[in-house]
Amino acid sequence: MEIVYIALGANLGDREKNMRNAHGHIMRLEGIQPGKISKFYETAPFGGPAQPMFLNAALEIKTSMSPHQLLEELQRIELHMGRIRKEKWGPRTIDLDIVFFGDRIVEDAQLKIPHPLMHERMFVLEPLAEIAPNAAHPVLKKTVFQMYQELKTFHQ
Ligand code: ADP
Ligand code: MG
Repeated sequence: MEIVYIALGANLGDREKNMRNAHGHIMRLEGIQPGKISKFYETAPFGGPAQPMFLNAALEIKTSMSPHQLLEELQRIELHMGRIRKEKWGPRTIDLDIVFFGDRIVEDAQLKIPHPLMHERMFVLEPLAEIAPNAAHPVLKKTVFQMYQELKTFHQ
């Protein structure tokens, strides 16, 4: 079992319900043990077209799945929940991104872990800092708390 952090985001429909549904679907996957979930944070959309505010959260799980198996399961949940892939960074009922997968580094066409923009995104770092301040980025060799503090300073 490896510890995995997932970033959840929603900005269409009943956002809170979508977040809770997605969480529920993840918990019901085989080969998953539940861990902490952060509060839901309301954040301004970033990039893409003009669109509604997001809810974002971070979730910790343990899993015996491989990174690609987990990605497939998360994409199945996104599709099942009615996510239509239109434009990059466009509005979505649910977005499920793998942030960390243990201390693995994955870099292929389908999957990049750690998520390449996580350290630049407050909407990923703030919820993650709530539940896993000491989790470490295997490439940058910084903790989530450090990255969060640095990004906060940068934004001031
Ligand atoms: P974004 O999350 O960047 O707004 P999408 O959710 O539409 O965009 O994802 C686009 C693609 O990103 C997916 O088809 C998936 O193959 C790829 N991807 C690469 N790395 C990851 C990751 N760590 N977690 C989730 N998806 C990823
Ligand atoms: Mg995504």
